[in-house]
Amino acid sequence: MVPFRQFLLKIHSRCNLACSYCYVYEAADRSWRDRPRRMELPVVRRTARRIAEHAAEHGLDEVVVVLHGGEPLLVGARHLDALLGVVLGELAGAGTRVRFSLQTNGLRLLDEPALLDVLHRYEVRVGVSLDGTRADHDRHRLLPSGTGSWERTAEAVRLLGSPEHRSLFAGLLCVVDLAADPVATYEALLEFAPPRLDLLLPHATWQSQPAGVRRALPSAPPAGGEPAPYGEWLIAAFDRWFDAPRRETGVRLFEELAVLLLGGRAASEAVGLAPVDLVVVEADGTIEQADSLKVAYDGAAATGLDVWRHGFGDAAVHPSFRARQRGMDGLGAVCGACPLVRVCGGGLYAHRFAGERLLQGEGFLHPSVYCVDLDRLIRHVAGRLRAAARGLGVGGVGGGALFGCSG
Ligand code: SF4
Repeated sequence: MVPFRQFLLKIHSRCNLACSYCYVYEAADRSWRDRPRRMELPVVRRTARRIAEHAAEHGLDEVVVVLHGGEPLLVGARHLDALLGVVLGELAGAGTRVRFSLQTNGLRLLDEPALLDVLHRYEVRVGVSLDGTRADHDRHRLLPSGTGSWERTAEAVRLLGSPEHRSLFAGLLCVVDLAADPVATYEALLEFAPPRLDLLLPHATWQSQPAGVRRALPSAPPAGGEPAPYGEWLIAAFDRWFDAPRRETGVRLFEELAVLLLGGRAASEAVGLAPVDLVVVEADGTIEQADSLKVAYDGAAATGLDVWRHGFGDAAVHPSFRARQRGMDGLGAVCGACPLVRVCGGGLYAHRFAGERLLQGEGFLHPSVYCVDLDRLIRHVAGRLRAAARGLGVGGVGGGALFGCSG
């Protein structure tokens, strides 16, 4: 059994934006309708005690608590302060260190400055969702009035990047959009001097395919030559990032691919074969899997567990989590035959879904719907790293997949 180290708490289950691609409110899953708006303190306390128990059982010195939503800052400064105090108190009492992070659209930071005081008090690292240029961001990320949210989000990011608050700024998260220019997107994000970027493929499955593509389930790994627009988009962004004369920022996906190609281990679920170590607690104390699964079907993230009746150890041995902790054994035949599998890992679990949900786990025994894109990107990154290593007179670095890759 692999213990959880990251606990994502859905502290507010509603949002103050209406994004067109939102996987919580716009995808197949409808569970949010039945949830309380915010996570109340008894739920927070029970959750924190469960985390402390789990940490003690597995000898974890430190855990990460990620505050998420909906929009987590809708809880307001007072409740956020109380909530963080409860988590910190329960975990400190058990001798476990906790690192806090939070993912937000940023708007509430402008409306309620006291939130920043609370975030500083608990050293919460804040990531903001921003989709590149004003035009690209405003195509999807809308205020309830229907107007774009770029202006206010940009103001919030500038506030977070100011000297006074820079220590809180974790980075920017951007969803890839084929309608956006990849280099313009990267450079628009760079203007905010983020410590790190994350470029995310839009959540999609074989049933609900990504915008701009229509693919049939493959029976073999990619042979090359298929259209791979998401791969090409990411390659353009990678080259702009990689060719910069000095390091401008980190890009999580590219850095993780490089680590994997050099034989290391990725820290995210998007690529690689590392077992999942993140568990979600909804506002009512329900224990769930990653939110991304909500794109698959109604109830896909559900486990039937909750913090009142179950510990996180029960979740860790639940079949739905075990399916994402088995490395190569958790993949289907196509990925099993793929030369890039140790780097790609079949992509994000949710993106492998192809419909047979009644057979537990088997609906996910497919390659990612982004298979050809991942293949194209990984081969390109491997080629660039190989050429760079040759230029430096380095050979066989790390004994990793980089020099064994055929692409
Ligand atoms: S999803 Fe990844 S590992 Fe699976 S076949 Fe495609 S490229 Fe290979």
